[in-house]
Amino acid sequence: MHIGKVKIVVMTTTCFSRNAEYLKSDLASCAVFIQSLVTSATIEIEQLKRSVSELKTKDSFANVVSNNVQVASSNISRNNGNDSGRKKPEFVCIVEPKRNNNDIIDSNQTISCLKGAISSKRISECGLRINKQIPTKNKKVLIKCASKSDCRVIQEEINKTNCGIKATIQEKRNPQLLILGVEKDIEDNNIVDIIISQNENVKNCLKQKEQSLKFAFSKDDRVGTKFVILDVSPQVWQICLNPGKLFIGYKCCTVKNNISLGQCYKCLRFGHKSAKCKNAPVCSKCNGNHESQTCNSSNLFANCANCLWWNQHRAKNRPAAELNVNHSVFSEECPQFKLAIERYHSRIDYGY
Ligand SMILES: [Zn+2]
Ligand SMILES: [Zn+2]
Ligand SMILES: [Zn+2]
Repeated sequence: MHIGKVKIVVMTTTCFSRNAEYLKSDLASCAVFIQSLVTSATIEIEQLKRSVSELKTKDSFANVVSNNVQVASSNISRNNGNDSGRKKPEFVCIVEPKRNNNDIIDSNQTISCLKGAISSKRISECGLRINKQIPTKNKKVLIKCASKSDCRVIQEEINKTNCGIKATIQEKRNPQLLILGVEKDIEDNNIVDIIISQNENVKNCLKQKEQSLKFAFSKDDRVGTKFVILDVSPQVWQICLNPGKLFIGYKCCTVKNNISLGQCYKCLRFGHKSAKCKNAPVCSKCNGNHESQTCNSSNLFANCANCLWWNQHRAKNRPAAELNVNHSVFSEECPQFKLAIERYHSRIDYGY
């Protein structure tokens, strides 16, 4: 009897310790599950913050543009005093040696030839506004100007002289419009015709030279309508954003500037999607060479990989140029993200 009791106690203890083991492993897997929920929720919050910040940029940019449209119409468009915070767009003229010219060995020599081709006297005669000259690789020099017409004058001046260099204007792409709340029964094939027939200002603008309005794509939204993206010429873009409304079917829809700056979830850089990425993967949680989804780290975010890269490669031996890296790579405050947005705008021809 006594022995039996002892046996029972031993069995109970064994069962208990086995149960404890199960409970422990259950708790561990719960912890992993909760951790993954927290990670995905945090990523979602950061993405939402990013979207809000992009929307703010779109709004403030639309305001800047509508201000500029008004300035242009009162014939003082070359006055620069009308920008609420955003950098003025720049236009780039690329100067490089002609194909068979082997006398030039670096971009400093290209600058010397450039100064021979267009003197400072000629620059002042033409009233040119050159913001910066930037020597780059392949013996090239980028001349950043305040307007496309400044770039054109430089191009013509250089190309008419025979001094072994040539100039080309860096082409910009057309802007896009985002139309919100379009009724789903408006077919994508017909939307351009509908906009033209219901909006006199757009119709008149399209009669002018080099103006265009093309359907790009549409997507259903969460409130039973859809948004539509249009590729447009700069002047049509300005006309539609000022006042920012278009009559479409039974509605007057809100129109915004469309910004489509993607961030790759494989290498964490901007301007492309992970499906087309050829870079090595970078993890947002530990900065390791693997994709973030496969990471076992319990960290939510490591220091920003893009700002770290900048500090290691571009700010080398220049402590003043170093960026703060203590933020997530998805943060809206990331200096590299802000720079990417600026670059994105600089490649689009907004027409001013
Ligand atoms: Zn990538
Ligand atoms: Zn990792
Ligand atoms: Zn950063």
